[in-house]
Amino acid sequence: MSQYHLVTLGCPKNEVDSEKLVGQLGADGFTATDDPDQAQLLVVNTCAFIGEARQESIDTILALAEHKGDGARLVVTGCMAERYGDELSDVMPEIDLVAGFGHALDDHGHDHGPAAGGPAATATSTAVEIGRKPSLPDFDLLNLPRPRSLRPWAYVKVAEGCDRACGFCAIPSFRGPQRSRPLPVILDEVEALDVQEIVLVAQDLAAYGRDQGVGERSIVPLVQAVSERVARTRLLYLYPSDLTDGLIDAICATGVPYFDLSLQHVSPPLVRRMRRWGNGDKFLRRIDDIRAREPDAAFRSNFIVGYPGETEEDHDQLLRFVEEAEVDWCGFFAYSPEDGTYAVDLDDQVDGELVAERLAELRELQDGITARRRDELIGSQVEVLVDAPGIARSHREAPEIDGVIGVPDHLAAGTLATLTVTGALGPDLEAE
Ligand code: SF4
Repeated sequence: MSQYHLVTLGCPKNEVDSEKLVGQLGADGFTATDDPDQAQLLVVNTCAFIGEARQESIDTILALAEHKGDGARLVVTGCMAERYGDELSDVMPEIDLVAGFGHALDDHGHDHGPAAGGPAATATSTAVEIGRKPSLPDFDLLNLPRPRSLRPWAYVKVAEGCDRACGFCAIPSFRGPQRSRPLPVILDEVEALDVQEIVLVAQDLAAYGRDQGVGERSIVPLVQAVSERVARTRLLYLYPSDLTDGLIDAICATGVPYFDLSLQHVSPPLVRRMRRWGNGDKFLRRIDDIRAREPDAAFRSNFIVGYPGETEEDHDQLLRFVEEAEVDWCGFFAYSPEDGTYAVDLDDQVDGELVAERLAELRELQDGITARRRDELIGSQVEVLVDAPGIARSHREAPEIDGVIGVPDHLAAGTLATLTVTGALGPDLEAE
């Protein structure tokens, strides 16, 4: 039987794609191996988010190429494939196939056209011939079916691509405009996964459905329909202008009042320069509204530090916002100039050392806030989902992103239980 060795890099969305690949490879008669030397098929699901991620992807491809035995094939998929298809094939002859989303490129970087089926299609095994080599499985990552999850939770990607044009972001340039999956297809996937918690993801999740012409607010019926099928529905990556009252109500009604707001910055001139919506005052008002409605609401956000033109005043505004907003979780990322973006040609790039200083200041501030918010939970009751013996999460912790809750080992994975928080250590809690 043929064996494959798969390496997944990057974000949760890539993990979804890899799970699908695992399912498809299994259906095509492949079994997994941890030993790349034994594999007839080596697959790297790459990330191209920023320079560091690209370098890690290239290093991984080169490292795996060293293990490529006679007759074995090396396939590169994911964001690097999508973004640099032709270039990758040209500069790395070790690669046998560069496979993007919904279409496959051959070893000369040529597009073989759309893979089998539209968004609603169930995947078939579309073979892609490489010279005389045996056919390869389908790599149409958006539309492949999912295998059953081995964990009590699973990501579900509801759309691919993005219609916005944020100044720092290259995603629309290589993932294309938004393509939402039809609701019935998503619900079939949710039911087949048979898990307690579904984490909905997309590049611009709140805009789900706009491209289908089924109305502006199809995210709300999606959230409602998913939450009728699973105990927990969690949403990641919400663009702030789309956080409507209706969506807030729908999220609170799921019982998982977790708001992952993609804010990026708060200073009005800088937000405009980022070609995004909003400012710190608007964000604070929205957060206050939500807390008034649901005092137990948990918040996460991300910010970019050192975007071209970021002044000391912009940075101070962000510090003040972080202090006032007191969100539970917050990620700060150094701006990375990306080809094909609006910001790459902007003047006033910020010095790297200054960016590092600003990042450290923000992270220190937020670490204190996170620790304080966690301490405040000691003595309270939380409803947890046990991910694995000893490890659980309440509505406040997204899987693989936020802290966790240590729980008694006898609680089996998949158990939902109400426990009392007995301690806190940094981002993590203990409960009994
Ligand atoms: S909404 Fe997100 S994916 Fe879309 S352009 Fe902005 S940062 Fe990129």
